Amino acid sequence: MIRVGVFGAAGRMGETVCAAAAAADDLELVAAVDPAAPGARAAGSSGVEIAAQRATFVEAAVEVAVDFTVVGAARENLRWCAAEGIHAVCGTTGFTEEDRAELAALFGGSTPANCVLAPNFSIGAVVMMRCAELCAPHFEGVEVIELHHDRKRDAPSGTSLETVRRIEAVRLQGGGARAFAADPTEQVVLEGARGGRSEAGVHVHSVRLPGLVAHHEVVFGSMGESLTIRHDSIDRVSFMPGVLLAVRRVAGMPGLTVGLESLLGI
Ligand code: NAP
Repeated sequence: MIRVGVFGAAGRMGETVCAAAAAADDLELVAAVDPAAPGARAAGSSGVEIAAQRATFVEAAVEVAVDFTVVGAARENLRWCAAEGIHAVCGTTGFTEEDRAELAALFGGSTPANCVLAPNFSIGAVVMMRCAELCAPHFEGVEVIELHHDRKRDAPSGTSLETVRRIEAVRLQGGGARAFAADPTEQVVLEGARGGRSEAGVHVHSVRLPGLVAHHEVVFGSMGESLTIRHDSIDRVSFMPGVLLAVRRVAGMPGLTVGLESLLGI
């Protein structure tokens, strides 16, 4: 049995992780932390009481900590896990390249702990990103549209940023010879109409509405044709197979692992 603790246990994702860990035969939910709900019971059948302080993870001998919080808290939680030698699986989004460099140094250093950081634990979304990499060299342009529920705090989504990063990495291999077509816009009538723009010129558009969960579209275009890859997470349970896979495998993945690809072998 792997002893699991959950940061953000009273949040939307944290609750789903608590229930999934409690229901898994090979995992045991032994601790849960969330300053928003100390004293409440964690979701699922574990009977674990949510604590305000992460010291409870040490008392409960947590082997793998799962973090679905906010990026400021997640940074601190991951530093603390490294210091305590507790493996970490983190789905919180909003980490910068500098954060990733720090985590790579931290988890590749003297700690025995490893970390899996994934902007999207949905297996369908991971496959979507691989498909986008495959398409990247073959089209003139690409834009990304991400659509999320109305309580999401960061924009654009971590998945859209990761998708753009990967498209660019494939596209710009060889020193930028395959730069994207220039933006034709001469006059922006409504500020922000063209969305955010990556350094290499990929536009990202964020939609926030009640009724949505997490949706991504990668739209490629060339002369006379377009190709749209779309992925929809319609329930938070879609993230659980990926989260539980990472929980089971993190102890055997030295240092920092970004994304689920290497765990899925794609
Ligand atoms: P949420 O409902 O707001 O839950 C976050 C919870 O973490 C809240 O209860 C929050 O409390 C709590 N929290 C804040 N600081 C904490 C700390 N230091 N220690 C422990 N708990 C703390 O958000 P969500 O929808 O679950 O999403 C959480 C994160 O996961 C977001 O970054 C989201 O983008 C990401 N996400 C990732 C994936 C993926 O597959 N990787 C999928 C879905 C969502 P307060 O409300 O008091 O701040």
